[in-house]
Amino acid sequence: MFVISQQDRYSRQIRFAPFGPEGQEKLSAATAVIVGCGALGTVQASLLARAGAGTIHLIDRDYVEESNLQRQLLYTEADARQGLPKAEAARRHLLEANSAVRIEAHVSDLNPENADDLLSCAGVILDGTDNFETRYLVNDFSVREGVPWIYGAAVGSYGIAMPVVPGESACFRCVYPEPPAGAQPTCETAGVLGPVTSLIGSLQAMEAIKILSGRCESVRRRIFTADLWHGPIRETGMPPRDPDCPCCDRRDFTWLNGRRAPVSLCGRNAVQIHELRRPLDLAQLARQLEGLGTVRSNEFALRFTSGDHEVTVFPDGRAIIKGTTDIGVARGIYARYIGN
Ligand SMILES: [Zn+2]
Repeated sequence: MFVISQQDRYSRQIRFAPFGPEGQEKLSAATAVIVGCGALGTVQASLLARAGAGTIHLIDRDYVEESNLQRQLLYTEADARQGLPKAEAARRHLLEANSAVRIEAHVSDLNPENADDLLSCAGVILDGTDNFETRYLVNDFSVREGVPWIYGAAVGSYGIAMPVVPGESACFRCVYPEPPAGAQPTCETAGVLGPVTSLIGSLQAMEAIKILSGRCESVRRRIFTADLWHGPIRETGMPPRDPDCPCCDRRDFTWLNGRRAPVSLCGRNAVQIHELRRPLDLAQLARQLEGLGTVRSNEFALRFTSGDHEVTVFPDGRAIIKGTTDIGVARGIYARYIGN
């Protein structure tokens, strides 16, 4: 059997002098946590796994759908057909690219209760989420523990990226003191283009590689924005730290100390129920639901369709109910089919 030598595998990046063999050694012993395995997360994960990051933790609450394939580069039609959770599908494909990397898949929703468990091993945290709530939570953790994180977002043809290096740069709350008010454009309502998410995911991966290879001083402490269809590509200096920032000055970690209510998912006509956490036997639930609608299940998730609603249930009791944005309706469906 032909064995790829590690030296050969990484030879092109080791030859790049500022990275070098030392950078490779540090990167190979380091851990990255990727929060959200959508378009940004799959690009970050792919680049980090191929570069030989030691351990990569993937956190994602969702499953692969056909509408993801246009930009979420790791997934295939087979993943969507099987309704595989994204974290698990990503883990499998990453290992095909580099079997030497340790990949941990967490089919889970990052929240205040599990943030310590899921993030504490991180040398860097990469933002692949689609919502401000999770970003404030990651920022709280980052500032409290002194772990850098890389913010990134994309919608339409526009993208933005910004590193947060606690103790050195402004934090996310210095720059965005409050979540944006009112309805925001989402990937569902405004669409999103693959080259934009790939660009932003690549920038995030680059800064993560610098941090994990011990070159934190080379991190670009700037806000990068680009509109790849209409407009310019820009970099602006990061604002100074807010001397009154509730997070990095007063160390008031509101989001980390909060509790989470059930939330409507990002513009998706779906509600996630995660307050009723308890282990569920999916095989038993599949038998119970037999005859009430269409049931498909595997070891990672069960999908049940009845009328206009599609319910995806995970083994930890969490569920995503598609076909409504009404939390009351979603709770009712959960109670009717899964229990209270
Ligand atoms: Zn701050």
